[in-house]
Amino acid sequence: VKTAAQWAEFGRDHVCHGLGRLRDHVIVKGSGLDLYTAEGKKLLDFTAGIGVTNLGHCHPHVSRAAAEQVNNLVHLQCSISFHAPYLQLIDRLLPAMPHESLDQFFFWNSGSEAIEAAIKVARQATGRQNMIVFSGAYHGRTMGSGALTRSKPIYTQGTGPLMPGVFSSAFPYWHQLGVSPSTSEEELVRLAEHQLDLILRQQVNPKDVAAIFIEPVQGEGGYVPVPPAFLRHLRDVCDKHGILLVIDEVQSGFFRTGSYFAIEQLTPELRPDILVFAKGVANGFPISGIASNKELMGKLDVGSMGGTYSGNAVACAAGIASQEVYQSGEIGQNVAERSKQLYAVLNGLAESSKTKHLIAQVRGMGLMASIEFRNTSDPLTLEGIPEGTAVPKNIGKRVQEYCLNKDLIILTTSCFDTIRFIPALTVNEEEIDRAMKIFTEAVENVAR
Ligand code: PMP
Repeated sequence: VKTAAQWAEFGRDHVCHGLGRLRDHVIVKGSGLDLYTAEGKKLLDFTAGIGVTNLGHCHPHVSRAAAEQVNNLVHLQCSISFHAPYLQLIDRLLPAMPHESLDQFFFWNSGSEAIEAAIKVARQATGRQNMIVFSGAYHGRTMGSGALTRSKPIYTQGTGPLMPGVFSSAFPYWHQLGVSPSTSEEELVRLAEHQLDLILRQQVNPKDVAAIFIEPVQGEGGYVPVPPAFLRHLRDVCDKHGILLVIDEVQSGFFRTGSYFAIEQLTPELRPDILVFAKGVANGFPISGIASNKELMGKLDVGSMGGTYSGNAVACAAGIASQEVYQSGEIGQNVAERSKQLYAVLNGLAESSKTKHLIAQVRGMGLMASIEFRNTSDPLTLEGIPEGTAVPKNIGKRVQEYCLNKDLIILTTSCFDTIRFIPALTVNEEEIDRAMKIFTEAVENVAR
């Protein structure tokens, strides 16, 4: 029998070197927001598996449904026949869709695969090749989804050439446009629209563009909600040129931002041509999917879509149980209350005379919240601080390290010096309070 330390050593020896880790803990159990190591240490998880276990680790209703399904049917290849949980999950998702036209579904396992499916549908249905994405975007790491990812070169470096025909336009975020953090939303939208316009005039004929992909709250790129006016503009551009609008709600979906899908709050009337979802749909069981309309999906040849594990029965059962909890109404309410509590602390830090010289911006939506620190190598973030104020280096990493040492797990994003807060949506008042006390201490410690 190996000790926890020996298992960690075993992991370092045998788990692919290319897989990074924050810590070498060996986790043996999860419950709610708590994770337990093999040594019995309890950690407070403010990552929820990066927005996956939205209902907390091992939510009893979801685990029970999965356990029951294991005894009925684990797997049926979806091109053999329908299976009941596949259909029942669609039945549960239909009323949750942000637009009534989204009534055709295809399931996959991961977010990246669902993005691949969206690429394939967009190309097949339009007969066009090219895609437009936004700077800072994260859509996955496979060869197609990786080609759409623009947040960090490490995800695909050394693996090219990736899928050709991808054009990247500026996301309406001050960093991506090279303007100050206090630039108005209106101005950000104007600048980003201009960038897109240039691409469609100078780089690719709009008639050759199959789809525009966008995350309504850019995730890896820094937890930046897209201004509603920009989303509406994209819809207009797509309508004008016959381009499909693909909304990637892989990270922002399933009440992460306070509503089932983020676009419900941003642009209630918006019609996505394809909606991509994953992560929170089954609270940790691997299932993802795309939803689209009859006209579009009807253009596909029968047999062109498929895959051995499309819509695994246990994952579907977990997905149904998860929707039952989401649809109870309690989750949205909790996100509203707890996010208010969390932002009050973050905004307090951004206003406090002790710490405000460290902070460039607080942003996010619901429990997809972030704080961006100033960075001396990044002059844009230094706006508004009195000359001569000393800004420490690597604030984000140092704050994260402090929290990890206090057994609070928090994540940075790929974007500069940003920390994100993405706890389970069932987080209670005491847990937010405990985490934010540690976080405040961490920031004050760096300020000293
Ligand atoms: N799209 C978005 C917006 C994501 O955040 C992610 C994962 N972080 C993906 C796609 C890819 O999902 P997966 O890791 O399940 O392949």
